[in-house]
Amino acid sequence: MSDRGVPPTEEVDLQALRRRRFRIISRGCALALACLLVQFLHARTPQLSGIVLGLLCALVVSMLLEKQGRLSLAVYCLVSIMTGSIFGFMYFSEGVHDFALVVFPLILVIGSLLLDLRAFIALLAVIAAGTLAMTGLEMSGSGPVQVARAGTGTMMDIVLVLGVTAVATWTMARDWQDAINKAVREAANAKAAQADFAHLATHDPLTGLPNRTHARTAIDAALAELAAQPAGEARLAILFLDLDNFKQINDSLGHLVGDELLKAVAVRLADTIGPDDFCCRFGGDEFLLLVPRITDMDALRRRLLALVAAIGQPFQIAGNAVHSSVSIGVSVAPDNSSQFDHLLQMADTALYAAKDAGPGSYWFFDIEMKAAVAEQLTIRNGLLNALERQELSLHFQPKVDCFRRKLTGVEALLRWNSPLLGSIPPVKFIPVAETSGLIVAIGAWVIEEACRQGLQWQASGLAFGRIAVNLSAMQFRGGDLAQQVAGILERTGFPATRLELELTESILLGDAENVRATCIALRRLGVRLSIDDFGTGYSSLSYLRRFPVDVLKIDRSFLSEITQSPADLAIVGAIVRMSHDLGLEVVAEGVETEPVASLLGEIECDQMQGYLFARPMPAAAFVAWAEAAGLAAPSAIALAQPRGAPN
Ligand code: C2E
Ligand code: MG
Ligand code: MG
Repeated sequence: MSDRGVPPTEEVDLQALRRRRFRIISRGCALALACLLVQFLHARTPQLSGIVLGLLCALVVSMLLEKQGRLSLAVYCLVSIMTGSIFGFMYFSEGVHDFALVVFPLILVIGSLLLDLRAFIALLAVIAAGTLAMTGLEMSGSGPVQVARAGTGTMMDIVLVLGVTAVATWTMARDWQDAINKAVREAANAKAAQADFAHLATHDPLTGLPNRTHARTAIDAALAELAAQPAGEARLAILFLDLDNFKQINDSLGHLVGDELLKAVAVRLADTIGPDDFCCRFGGDEFLLLVPRITDMDALRRRLLALVAAIGQPFQIAGNAVHSSVSIGVSVAPDNSSQFDHLLQMADTALYAAKDAGPGSYWFFDIEMKAAVAEQLTIRNGLLNALERQELSLHFQPKVDCFRRKLTGVEALLRWNSPLLGSIPPVKFIPVAETSGLIVAIGAWVIEEACRQGLQWQASGLAFGRIAVNLSAMQFRGGDLAQQVAGILERTGFPATRLELELTESILLGDAENVRATCIALRRLGVRLSIDDFGTGYSSLSYLRRFPVDVLKIDRSFLSEITQSPADLAIVGAIVRMSHDLGLEVVAEGVETEPVASLLGEIECDQMQGYLFARPMPAAAFVAWAEAAGLAAPSAIALAQPRGAPN
């Protein structure tokens, strides 16, 4: 009767089921025994009447036991009493010829409903052994010999046995039916849940459009269909759509409006596309459209114009008219490629070109872009081993004091001389290093190399001031930049106060909290921080307050026209005054002419850097430059100390 290993709730269910079966069967038996008692009393067979009465009493006892919750004992009691009394009947009447023998199948049915397997086998063994023994007795001549003729009593017995058997088997059948119904219901539920999961895995919950997982399957299928067609018969286009002003809408009107806009765009896209097209939300504000079976490229162009026009219409969101526009990058199979990944990358590249062309533009991927992608790949592959092959080096460009024109520091600028590709300018390889993540290792090498060089100059008595190193946003992502710098300073023995790190505005715009914490930790080390290329990004003055920076470097684009443009002069003058008010030093980058340098002196800029003084140069050339400028003899140099700078 034990149900070990079955979870508690199921165990409770099973117990309840057994109890119900017991009650039905015991009541059926009680009724049958009562009828038998009446029959035997009527036939005046006291012996059999006594047995039936005893049986009834035993049945009542077992029913009471069940009521007290002792179900197992009640069941054993019921089954053993029934079995024992049937043997009694047989023994006292006609032995194996007695009609009572047919009750054994009934007992077995009851046993199968109420007993566990072991008890059931034991019951079967007892019945078999008892019947065999009874047969043995008869064969040896010591059993009952008279076989009575069948009478009305026999008919009644048959009806009673059949009735109780029917109740027991019906109970069993109903239980099975219930179990089957339950299993069918659960299977249907599981199927529905499975369908929900499949839908979730392949659809975007916000817009209800298919997601990028689904896109791959659909586009792969369309590409396979295209490949099966004769060459040149049809084309397939992948349209990469990106909303132009989604970030601004999200930031200014809130995420809820942003979400509603995405939903509305999805609806409009779904309304615009043809029956064979496939549209999915690729992520964020990006959507992907597959246009298969294209035979007329002009028709595709008209479709693109229609798409741009449709998204350009204002959206009504929460009672407001929200204006948006979409840029689209297009790649075409098999012209550009026949592989999903390549086509996607090409459409993405074309999207960048569309963005450059202005909001609401579309752009087809072309061969020049293909060349640009291939070049980036070549650069990436070359950069992979550039560090260990010692192809990287540092050049140094001096910064000078605006008044006395004395050296105040140097900026370390990375150079890559590839034996395969030649000398690649940083504007070309640094973005590749950034997108590929290689900048983290390369950047760490630059800091260490600059510190090593600085220490060497310091030891040789060259008063170079501070050494500045450029940082990329990705170097902040690991969260351990400050520890990394501390480790380098410790390893090289270079004083932290002579190291300056240049950050661009885009770094500060990223994960602001993490960057702020890293800046604070770097500042604690004694390292100075400067904002590079100020004026090219958002030029937000708020982060000058939020981030603990010491220096602001005005981008060279403000200086090229400064002598002719009163507006540029006014901007640079205002930046200098504001920086001084905030206790920051100002460095002007890209100073190429003497009039610009003089003007910077007049508006009280602190330092300058540019081709007028020197181009970036290798370490040895820098030493020669410093010697020529009379800076190499340390005693002759007064290191210009910028205001508020730590020593
Ligand atoms: P940047 O940090 O603004 O560096 C100044 C850039 O302006 C240098 O270009 C320098 O050669 C150039 N420059 C200096 N004076 C003049 C001038 O008078 N006229 C003109 N037209 N240009 C001048 P470079 O060396 O090509 O570096 C370009 C950019 O690459 C750097 O801009 C910096 O953002 C990045 N970069 C260079 N080295 C590293 C590095 O080690 N790590 C990271 N993350 N970025 C680096
Ligand atoms: Mg810089
Ligand atoms: Mg700069």
